[in-house]
Amino acid sequence: MVGSFRKEAAAWLDDICPASLRGTGDAVSGGGRKIAIDDPDKNRYFEAMYERGWTVPNWPTEYGGAGLSAGEHQALRQAMNDVGAPVPLVGMGTMMIGPTLLEHGSAEQKARHLPKIANGEIRWCQGYSEPGAGSDLASLKTRAEDAGDHFLINGSKIWTSGAQFADWIFCLVRTDFNAPKHEGISFVLFSMDQPGVTVRPIRLINGVSPFCECFFDDAQASKEDLIGKLNRGWTIAKRLLQHERSSISGAAPQTRPVSDVARKYAGWAEGRIADPAIRSQVIEHDLDEHAYTLTQKRARQENADGATQTYATSIFKLYRSELTKRRTELVVSMMGTQGVGSGGETFSADELSETQVWLGRKAGTIAGGSSEVQRNIIAKRVLGLPD
Ligand SMILES: Cc1cc2nc3c(=O)[nH]c(=O)nc-3n(C[C@H](O)[C@H](O)[C@H](O)COP(=O)(O)OP(=O)(O)OC[C@H]3O[C@@H](n4cnc5c(N)ncnc54)[C@H](O)[C@@H]3O)c2cc1C
Repeated sequence: MVGSFRKEAAAWLDDICPASLRGTGDAVSGGGRKIAIDDPDKNRYFEAMYERGWTVPNWPTEYGGAGLSAGEHQALRQAMNDVGAPVPLVGMGTMMIGPTLLEHGSAEQKARHLPKIANGEIRWCQGYSEPGAGSDLASLKTRAEDAGDHFLINGSKIWTSGAQFADWIFCLVRTDFNAPKHEGISFVLFSMDQPGVTVRPIRLINGVSPFCECFFDDAQASKEDLIGKLNRGWTIAKRLLQHERSSISGAAPQTRPVSDVARKYAGWAEGRIADPAIRSQVIEHDLDEHAYTLTQKRARQENADGATQTYATSIFKLYRSELTKRRTELVVSMMGTQGVGSGGETFSADELSETQVWLGRKAGTIAGGSSEVQRNIIAKRVLGLPD
């Protein structure tokens, strides 16, 4: 049954997916009103996928999804892989706030927000971290005060990825200032396009600004956009983090096999990598990557309802981000001086890209909760070790 679904999906994808998009590994769109899809091939592909409900394949049809079961969703991923068809839509809408609203939103909140995620209209950002609240997130101080039919938000957030392009934010705010810290937090949604919101991109040493500081001065959040109960946002916040960690751990491995890099830079003789030390590092990496992929596949199959997001998600997040970091370190070390370029004619586009990936993947062991924090969660919540 699922096998025939995969075949039928692959045939349809083969028909609609333009050659220019195949095998690139890049998602077509991150959604939002501020960044348009600028390529007609991408536009056509996106629209066809959206019409079929395949921007959010496992969401109910009433919210723009296709209502696929976990098995069908997995089969669709495989079919897309077979054809080299890219993911049509990514971002915090499809991966984080959407799944959280499906579980915790009211019927009215789901109807208002989910279809605009599915059709790519609204891009979201995550207002969790603050200057004094990262790993210890529950220490957050951004305040929300009751102002009748809305809350007034005052405070600031930091490391807010993509805030400069986001239309809306899901945000943790303190609504009870006297309760124990986990019990005075609420989960609210509000528009980024209002006078009380100022976004300041944080410029990194390489000139890019993947994340921002956000300042709220009497920003408004409608009470209709309080998710769950007042002061009970912590449970929802943790649930969203499981979705975030699940999407990080499900990210596809780097497209270029490590052995290709070895072939080019580390010396190749008699059909194998010449240097035995590098050879064993590459083999070890490839085995770890393969074992990870199989373990993740098994976890998906064991959860017939697709509910892989539990505390155990931290195991996958930890392993995926550390493994990816190790891959980039191995690649750059094999490339020698060609692996540390920041520009200029002596470096190829591939080399410059590998260097950027190497730097970027270090951040992957911090974003979504650092590796140390994942280890703490695994120790306490999965293994049941004492505090
Ligand atoms: C690329 C990237 C994107 C991000 N995007 C967003 C975003 O969109 N929205 C958002 O809200 N946040 C975002 N963040 C912030 C991220 O969630 C925090 O950086 C992370 O939670 C760590 O917090 P911190 O930076 O304050 O470090 P700290 O909490 O100050 O930690 C410093 C160090 O101490 C360690 N440490 C802290 N507490 C413990 C403990 N109890 N046990 C052991 N070790 C500990 C940490 O592991 C870390 O090594 C992003 C971060 C990165 C790198």
